[in-house]
Amino acid sequence: MYTQTILKFLSDFDYINLHPRAALIDMDGTLYDSMPNHARAWRQMAAEIGIDLPEADFFRYEGRTGASTIDIIFREAFGRGATEEEKKELYRRKTEIFAEMPPVSPMPGARQMLEFLDAVGIKRVLVTGSGQSTLLNRLDEDFPGAFQKDLRITSRDVKIGKPSPEPYLKAMELAGVRQNECFVIENAPLGVEAGHAAKLFTVGVNTGPLRQEELSEAGADIVFPSMTAFSEALPYLIYGFITNSRNLN
Ligand code: MG
Repeated sequence: MYTQTILKFLSDFDYINLHPRAALIDMDGTLYDSMPNHARAWRQMAAEIGIDLPEADFFRYEGRTGASTIDIIFREAFGRGATEEEKKELYRRKTEIFAEMPPVSPMPGARQMLEFLDAVGIKRVLVTGSGQSTLLNRLDEDFPGAFQKDLRITSRDVKIGKPSPEPYLKAMELAGVRQNECFVIENAPLGVEAGHAAKLFTVGVNTGPLRQEELSEAGADIVFPSMTAFSEALPYLIYGFITNSRNLN
């Protein structure tokens, strides 16, 4: 299964095979259906400082740390970057608005995906640009046993964040795996870009309003239209990983 896709990936990065020991998994828009609330909270925070931006813009910034998103908004609106003080205060405000919104639900299909990975002995590593405790604190309740405490990368663990490969490289280090021993699960173009830049097999799961092509163009090796579709395909993808390798003769 997925032979062409897998062989193309192996040849692009010059790997012989892909034997997955860890899955590096994004949180917002991947595990939680949280992006509509995030986009609305960002839009409101920006409006409060006199910047009018459509919610769709924030789906494109998704994956960046809060500080980096605020910096971009400032550069576009005011022609200068945000100060550390502004970043801190405005991210606090955005977080406050988000926390007051109706609670978000786990993404349909996310639990099945995590349970399957667990059943076949693939470690789960959380890789999020978020530092928002609203969701981070709920992970253990919503996905019991899915993520060990020491296998989580959040905004606190990175300097640059997505779309830099940094968070994924750090996640590999945490899990103790090499590039051909893990794969990435992401919903956002910038997150996909980060996975691809880390030279990892990157699954794009399109759970939001963007076109599916935006994930392919960002470097996704394969794109699924929903988390449910991905969780149903996952056993076949893993089987494909294990059974396909490059013939170097
Ligand atoms: Mg995401």
